[in-house]
Amino acid sequence: MAVQIPYRRELEFGYGAMSRLGPRIRRVIADNPSPFTLYGTGTYILGNGEVAVIDPGPADPAHIDALLRAVEGETITHVLVTHTHTDHSPGCALLKAHSDAPTYAYGPHGAGKLEEGVPVEEGGDMDFEPDHQIRHGDVIEGGDWSVECVYTPGHTSNHMCFQLREDKALFTGDHVMGWSTSIISPPDGDMAAYMRSLELLLQRDDAVYWPTHGPCIDDPKPLVQAFIEHRREREAQILECVGRGVGNIREMVPIMYTSTPEFMYPAAGRSVLAAVEYLVQKGELVSAGPISLDGSYRLP
Ligand SMILES: [Zn+2]
Repeated sequence: MAVQIPYRRELEFGYGAMSRLGPRIRRVIADNPSPFTLYGTGTYILGNGEVAVIDPGPADPAHIDALLRAVEGETITHVLVTHTHTDHSPGCALLKAHSDAPTYAYGPHGAGKLEEGVPVEEGGDMDFEPDHQIRHGDVIEGGDWSVECVYTPGHTSNHMCFQLREDKALFTGDHVMGWSTSIISPPDGDMAAYMRSLELLLQRDDAVYWPTHGPCIDDPKPLVQAFIEHRREREAQILECVGRGVGNIREMVPIMYTSTPEFMYPAAGRSVLAAVEYLVQKGELVSAGPISLDGSYRLP
């Protein structure tokens, strides 16, 4: 691939232990490592005394205990949720048993797609319903912190980033991570929305990103730019495959993902499907029938 994405994976931490990352930022990482979560879900704590929590994580009592230990003697006043994948939001229900703090999110799983008339009924935490629905530009204020909500659909249709305004620090959830591209899996995942949400970040002046998974990103714009160029390369690869007569996604994946282990092919296929959907929307590809993994595609 021509585009080099400046990945970083190194991170010093211990499961169950709280790391202080700045005067207003702390993090506890859940013990749910995987090829999709790297070391696990990073739950952030904003402020001191009266704090906000971002993404309580999976339904893991040990992680919620660790989070409560980290804020002992303090009060959780707000629970912010970037999106409703099962490694991010199910911990809210466990936390409710220990805290009265209301939850804030764009909406339940699939909310952004439902507004477009597309129901999304799988692949997420279907039980989560936020106490407060938030929208782009909303500001949430607490003890010694304030947060701006930045709507960034693409990875999911309800994905929100949160900027800690005092630090110009953007909590990017799974929208931008320093160690991996984001999975864009239709129908809830949407490549056109994802690309717009990347462009949106280029217009902003965030100083640092704190993704849910992996280390912080202290020079964010070159990384965002690289992700945009990487997706454009993927689009070019798809058009090249189709131009050579490979019009089926399952056949494209091994050609396009030469350095990806085979067990990741299903996830890669979902990303190709998202890119194909985007190319059809743009009129650069024609689909013989409904757009799906088994569909067949040709150049216009
Ligand atoms: Zn996710």
